[in-house]
Amino acid sequence: MRETQTVVSKPPPPCCNICQGKIGTVFVDGRMSQGSWADMCWNCFRQHGVGLGTGQGQKYRKPGAPERTRWSDQELHAVPTGHWVKVAG
Ligand SMILES: [Zn+2]
Repeated sequence: MRETQTVVSKPPPPCCNICQGKIGTVFVDGRMSQGSWADMCWNCFRQHGVGLGTGQGQKYRKPGAPERTRWSDQELHAVPTGHWVKVAG
């Protein structure tokens, strides 16, 4: 499947709305199972997110970062710079 690469001007959220951890490599702006929306780190998205897509969640990743479903804490919490790329949702 070809990846959609949408560059967004959205500034990177400084930290995850749920665990308050710094967001480094990837995050999801998405809906949680309770119905509210949050900027979530990938780990929290996997626990609380309802999915990716319209009305569910948008996934953003730093340009150049590899596509993965699991990240080390170090990678997730690296300090981001510059813009984000929307890769799903
Ligand atoms: Zn989190």
